Amino acid sequence: MTQTITLTMDARKRIALIAHDNKKDDLLEWAAFNRMLLAEHDLYATGTTGGLLAEQLQLEINRMQSGPLGGDLQIGAMIAQREIDVLIFFWDPLEAQPHDPDIRALLRLAVVWNIPVATNRASADFICASPLFQTPYQRTVPDYTEHRERMAQKFQSLPE
Ligand code: PGA
Repeated sequence: MTQTITLTMDARKRIALIAHDNKKDDLLEWAAFNRMLLAEHDLYATGTTGGLLAEQLQLEINRMQSGPLGGDLQIGAMIAQREIDVLIFFWDPLEAQPHDPDIRALLRLAVVWNIPVATNRASADFICASPLFQTPYQRTVPDYTEHRERMAQKFQSLPE
């Protein structure tokens, strides 16, 4: 059985918000509707999304680079460093993006680190309506020690 470790999310979550251009209106509308809920948390966003959200919500948003310039990867790195608890990412299924590899990397890391992800408005509604959105939560993550130490084990088993 896979060993797991537990990471605690505080009641105050660190939420990353990203929307592709054709989805920005959708995210802005969703965020405006949920402004009071979002105000209870720490908000992070890619550059353009963050600028629009800050203007619309009049809340402090920690902004990264614009997505195609590395913003998605910055958010991904924060997930790996356990600095993001929730990802709200309205990606566009109908338009190719120049930074598709970054998008895949970001979504992949969200799975690696078992954080909740909403990729459309309905799932974002479900996440922010959950009681867990406003209470501490014990997140289980596979214990990756074996993966980290795999090379060490290999070298030990090599003949001299
Ligand atoms: P943007 O990036 O917020 O800077 O538009 C979003 C994205 O394309 O990932």
